[in-house]
Formats: sequence, C-alpha cells, structure tokens
Amino acid sequence: MKSAITTAASRLHELHCAACGQVHSAFELQTVSACCQQPLLASYDLSWPPRPEGIIDQADSSMWRYGALLPLLDPANKVTLGEGLTPLLDLPRLGAHYGFSALTLKDEGQNPTGSFKARGLSMAISKAKELGASGCIIPTAGNAGVAMAAYCARAGLRATVVMPRHTPEAFKEECYWYGAQVELVDGLINDCAARVRQLNAGGELLDISTLKEPYRLEGKKTMGYEIAEQLNWQLPDVLLYPAGGGTGLIGIWKAFAEMKALGWLAPETRLPRMVAVQAENCRPLYDTYFGHQSNCHAYQGRPTLANGLAVPRPLGEPLMLRVLRESQGTVVSVSEEAMLEGMRELGQHEGLFVAPEGAAVWMAARQLQAQGWLRADERLLLLNTGSAQKYLSNVVGRAWG
Ligand SMILES: *Cc1c(COP(=O)(O)O)cnc(C)c1O
Ligand SMILES: [Zn+2]
Repeated sequence: MKSAITTAASRLHELHCAACGQVHSAFELQTVSACCQQPLLASYDLSWPPRPEGIIDQADSSMWRYGALLPLLDPANKVTLGEGLTPLLDLPRLGAHYGFSALTLKDEGQNPTGSFKARGLSMAISKAKELGASGCIIPTAGNAGVAMAAYCARAGLRATVVMPRHTPEAFKEECYWYGAQVELVDGLINDCAARVRQLNAGGELLDISTLKEPYRLEGKKTMGYEIAEQLNWQLPDVLLYPAGGGTGLIGIWKAFAEMKALGWLAPETRLPRMVAVQAENCRPLYDTYFGHQSNCHAYQGRPTLANGLAVPRPLGEPLMLRVLRESQGTVVSVSEEAMLEGMRELGQHEGLFVAPEGAAVWMAARQLQAQGWLRADERLLLLNTGSAQKYLSNVVGRAWG
C-alpha cells in the first residue's frame, strides 16, 4: 500500500562544515567548505519523524526509496540506473567452517557498473544536474570513474575521468564506452587529483572527488538505511568495510545517527562496531590509528590489487577516525596474498566473485577472530563493495593459489 506521503519532498535543510560546524547553503552548488576547505555534511529536518512506513517508498526497489532523506529536491533531476537495494546473503558454509554463527555479506557488486560507487555517483550526478553543472571531472582509482562516466552519459553531461595508468584495462575501456574523456596518470589517486586541478584550473567542470562535494556521501549512506531495513531494524554487532576515501564508513554511520534521531532504532539499540579494512600496500588510516604517524598528509602508498583502497591521503581521515572512536571499532590491514585467498574462499565456498576489496574484508574478519577481537557468536556484516569482473587481468590464473 502506497500512501501519498511516501513521495514526500526531500527534507534537506542545510550543509555543515565537518571541521568547524559553520552552516552553508544546501541550495547552491558547493564544493568543500569555504571556511576550512573541508567536507560539507548535509543535514535534514528530522523534527517531525514519522515511522519508516511514512517515509520509505516501498514501490521503489532502488536506493531512491529513501528519497525524503536524500538531497535531491526535484525528482525530475533524478539520474538512476537502478542502484541500491542489494541483497544481504548469509555465508553458511564459510561461517560453519570458521565457527562464525552469524556471517552475512551485503553484495554491492550487484550494483550498476559493478560497484557501490553507483550509489554515490547516482546521487552526485543528479545534484550536479539539478544545480546546473555542464560537466564533471573526477580523480579515481577505477570504480568511481566508471560510475561517473555512466551517470554523466545518462544525464547528458560531459565527463572527464583521471585514473592511474596501471589501472586494469577494463576500467578504462568501460569509461570509453560511456563516451567519457579518460586521462591516464603515472601514480596513485592523489597524483590524479593534482592532474584534475591542472585540467580544471578554470573551474568549468564540477569536481566530483571523494568528499569534495557533499552528495556522494549521501548516496553511500543509503547502505546504512538498507542494512537496518533488511535486518528488520536490528543492527549487526560488527560491520566490516574496505576503507579508501571512507565515504561508505562515514555515510553508513551518518545513516545510523539519522535513524536514531528519527526514532527508527529502539533507544537501547547498540550500534555496530565499525571496522575499516585497508591494504598493507596502502594503509594510511591504519598507520594513523595505531600511532605510526600523526596523520596521513605525507603518507606514501603503493598500488594494490584492491585499487579502491589505494588512497594514500584521504581528505576524510578525521571523519573516519571519529567513526572508529565513536563505534569502538578498529582498523585491519590485509596483504595482497590474503586478498587472493579470500577471493578463492568466497568463490569456492559461496559462489561469490568478489572484488579484492571485498575479499580483504572477509580476511579481516578472520584476523580479528584469531586476535580474539571478535567473538564467534557475534553477528558480522561484511560489505563486499564490488564485483571482480573488472579486476580479472590482475588475478587471472590465481584461482588455485
Ligand atoms: C572505492 C572503493 C572502495 C573504497 O570506498 P571509499 O568510499 O573510498 O572508502 C572499496 N571498494 C571498492 C570496490 C571501491 O571501488
Ligand atoms: Zn569550517
């Protein structure tokens, strides 16, 4: 049954600087905060909180079912390929083998363009269209660029994608098929960001870099709403997430806070301990969290199979650290060999062909269990953020170790 209220307009209210809290308008084109050059976070009017049934559009089987809590003002500007509402899959065979009694994976590899980047880019490109941008540019480790190219094509916007030269061919090729201009750079995503500044010195394109515009985060937060809705408003004990720029970690935590404010979670609900998983080859957050450096500003990363994790200097590091602190979470780092082992296990025991980032999350759960940080009876949720298809050229021939 669909009531009139489910199509309620966005409750977008204002934007806040993540560093100093200063308020900025949510109704004009924004990048980072003018005050501190830091991310802007969207807030909503949650003062009249109806039950989920009054907000969630049950007829919509995409992330846009939470439209009232998303920043798009006019539905006519929505740019969608059906992203979101991905399945939660139990992992009974792996769970039994390793003694986990409640092991579940959210399979974001089933999104358009093969990764959860579709959520953020559907949202950001819809807002770019709404706010009158003529084209968009992005530095990317791969998946974000592919998603931006697809959504820009659908919106009729120009797209420029800047990615490391060593990125597997399939990522570049898919961008070409969406009609994007692709620039290749020797280095990692931070080097691509420098190239973006050069290419866009005149500012004619909207920079869609992670957390340099406020809305990718809002798309990513829908994972938090979905997890709660799919688990009938009972959250897992521990949530493991492969953190690069960190939008998923920050976004899911933001969704939990909004749901608390809305009264959708029982007051006694314990929020999950949030685990950020990184690659040994590029683990700035790990090094900061464990005190090996005071922050990531000079961190030097190396390429990894999990190219989504090859983000040496994430702008959102302070926000990620806050999530880890508030949730009593932790950070784990995973080797390249372990990622391949994780891909084999999820493939051979559960029929899932996950990106190395997702495999890293599974191997992180095993590490935390071995350290005693996790108890076997805890409810674990693994986020698999992408499908392995585009990574094939880097893993071909490794199915048997
Ligand atoms: C981008 C990406 C990540 C990291 O996401 P962030 O939001 O940057 O933390 C993880 N996995 C995959 C497959 C990705 O493409
Ligand atoms: Zn500020």
